[in-house]
Amino acid sequence: MKIAVYPGSFDPVSNGHLDIIKRVSSIFDTVYILVSFNPNKKYCFTDEERVEMMKIATKEIPNVIVEGSSSLVLDYARSKKASVIIRGLRNFIDYQNEITLFQFNRSIDNKIDTFILFPSADNLFLSSSAIKELVLFGGDISNYVPHDLVEYITNIIKRRL
Ligand code: ADP
Repeated sequence: MKIAVYPGSFDPVSNGHLDIIKRVSSIFDTVYILVSFNPNKKYCFTDEERVEMMKIATKEIPNVIVEGSSSLVLDYARSKKASVIIRGLRNFIDYQNEITLFQFNRSIDNKIDTFILFPSADNLFLSSSAIKELVLFGGDISNYVPHDLVEYITNIIKRRL
């Protein structure tokens, strides 16, 4: 059984995240999506909302399991017997963060590897913060987030930001 963990804030989930999840789920037997709960980070969506959105976005992918946790990604991966952590890489800023995180994780546990995926062309410039900005300036996010969640995400951002 090949098991992977895809961790992130997903504040909110975007088509970029979903594209990575779909591609990875066709390669691994099981993919755990770890929605990170980090009390030091300021999120627009609550922990429960971020988990719920991800469950809705992935409901048609049978080998994906969505969970929220405040544990260290490596500890979570070990508890699921996962051998791979999945990350996306859009640009040099991501590169710097991801390579640092990768080296750090490897120094703690070299049995768990990190696989990096590049976004599909449509999602190259897509980020959760760009989605929030777009809503704030009255833009339409329907091309950037899963269809079922357009209204929900728009309303919450309008109410909170
Ligand atoms: P974090 O807050 O931990 O950076 P995010 O929710 O922003 O988490 O993203 C989780 C992962 O998904 C990260 O590896 C990030 O690089 C990747 N990612 C974010 N947006 C995209 C996108 N548009 N295309 C591909 N990967 C993405």
